[in-house]
Amino acid sequence: MTLLGAAEVRRLAAQLDLRPTKSLGQNFVHDANTVRRIALAAKLDRAGHVLEIGPGLGSLTLALLEVSATVTAIEIDHRLADLLPTTVAAHAPGRVGDLTVITADAMTILGTDLAGEPTSLVANLPYNVAVPVLLHLLSEIPSLQRVLVMVQAEVADRLAAPPGSRTYGSPSAKAAWYGSARRAGAIGRSVFWPVPGVDSALVAIDRHAVPRAGDRKAVFAVIDAAFAQRRKTLRAALSGWAGSPVRAEELLRAAGVDPGLRGEMLDVDAFARIAEARAAADLQVGP
Ligand code: SAM
Repeated sequence: MTLLGAAEVRRLAAQLDLRPTKSLGQNFVHDANTVRRIALAAKLDRAGHVLEIGPGLGSLTLALLEVSATVTAIEIDHRLADLLPTTVAAHAPGRVGDLTVITADAMTILGTDLAGEPTSLVANLPYNVAVPVLLHLLSEIPSLQRVLVMVQAEVADRLAAPPGSRTYGSPSAKAAWYGSARRAGAIGRSVFWPVPGVDSALVAIDRHAVPRAGDRKAVFAVIDAAFAQRRKTLRAALSGWAGSPVRAEELLRAAGVDPGLRGEMLDVDAFARIAEARAAADLQVGP
């Protein structure tokens, strides 16, 4: 097995006459040490099945095949998806049968589109859609137990932020619904081609051993409302969601949450209690 270096990345891109696009977040890693570091940090099971989003020219895919049994790669750009098996056959002879490439948009992929049940998600995510893709996959593919993704550094901070911190927001609370997130290292700009205009970082998420009970969509609706208007108290921020400020206050008190707090102070359990308080109140009133 050999990994892709800078010259090979350029050669493959030239072969496709590829001009990397910003809209698809096409910044390719052209440094073998970086992809090997990511694959090792993911602590993969050698017999395991990994899901990769956006394999691009295959830099990370090859590193993942070095430390796992099978990889399913979902790539939206059909030119890249079509070339990937040839690249893997050239660099990892005998392993192309362990790779499944699906040409699709990761934002809309369904668990039923995959053969088998991947237990890890490892990816250098397209930055403009990193959070929605990540949340979609965690919801859609319950077999995913561990996540290690490279995202814009600010997004990594946001995903891993605890309540009350400056960067805590809707992505932090939603990620916490699924598992515990932490920053897992920084990645320099020079390992990419083309060089991005932002810093990158790794974020790891370990899914909760026991999935949370409760209506996820209802909880996420409360989170969306609470963070739609930052710097407002929950009484004000949730008034539209509840129907009025008075009703918002009643539901917050029923959930044991001070209506004068801001959403930034609440953990996901508190958001879940607010959603439950509303469901209980709706049940009493009837349809
Ligand atoms: N994994 C490669 C690497 O590390 O060199 C490429 C990473 S690049 C940051 C992001 C990749 O995601 C690109 O190959 C791009 O075409 C692909 N992509 C962008 N949007 C996507 C989507 N919605 N679904 C699947 N792949 C997508």
